[in-house]
Amino acid sequence: MNELTLQNVTKKYGQKTALDGCSLIFKTGINALLGPNGSGKTTMMNIIADLIPANSGSVLWNGTSIAKLGAEYRGILGFMPQNVNLYKRFSAADNLRYFGKLKGLSTSQVEEDIPRLLEKVNLSDCVNKKFGSFSGGMKQRLGIAVTIMNKPKLVIFDEPTAGLDPKERMRFRDILRELSEDAVVILSTHIVSDVEMLADNIILLKEGKVCESGTAEELQEKYTPEASSDRTVLETVYMNFFGEG
Ligand code: ADP
Ligand code: MG
Repeated sequence: MNELTLQNVTKKYGQKTALDGCSLIFKTGINALLGPNGSGKTTMMNIIADLIPANSGSVLWNGTSIAKLGAEYRGILGFMPQNVNLYKRFSAADNLRYFGKLKGLSTSQVEEDIPRLLEKVNLSDCVNKKFGSFSGGMKQRLGIAVTIMNKPKLVIFDEPTAGLDPKERMRFRDILRELSEDAVVILSTHIVSDVEMLADNIILLKEGKVCESGTAEELQEKYTPEASSDRTVLETVYMNFFGEG
């Protein structure tokens, strides 16, 4: 069991406080950051991925500060940013080869993994097609393949379902479930239905603060919202926090 811990993390952009004293524990399994636009999801993920520094607080991997872990931390990390941008002129396979090199994987390992990875994200037909010709959903799916190719123990997806159609969403859920068997998976979304059935742990972020965390059932029990015919329980909890839309 692995664990990523945030201790009192604060991030300011000038006068704007994007994260305000966030403390959280993410464990092996699927953790969902849920909150409206501007609530601080991307900021938190960028700090966890060690892409931007926090103003104060710490991030620990199994109890050790990620600042101390350095290169070792990058080896266990997979990060997919909000807008997947790979090499337009490279084919799907060449993108995997290129990023495999960057991640320090051996050429033979990458060659062996390419068919398996493309199969997993349903791009087997596109091995030699250029990234530039891909649809939004296909780009997203190749992004997922690149993200998981080094078998990360900590996987971060920022708004991963944004460009996916319903079928692709289902496939992505299956990939997440498999990954989460032995990795800490953290994903962000502002869409309640994305996480309700999927996440082991749901974190509600509002204006840079963690306002709740727990399983869907725990949140449900805590708020015991009035039964509503056209809303799920988590949707009602979300509504109570953030209002309509
Ligand atoms: P989310 O991903 O939940 O939409 P963000 O982390 O992107 O939220 O943003 C949180 C807040 O910080 C927002 O108010 C946003 O405008 C602000 N913010 C984000 N990035 C920057 C930046 N580089 N400079 C200034 N303000 C920023
Ligand atoms: Mg964001």
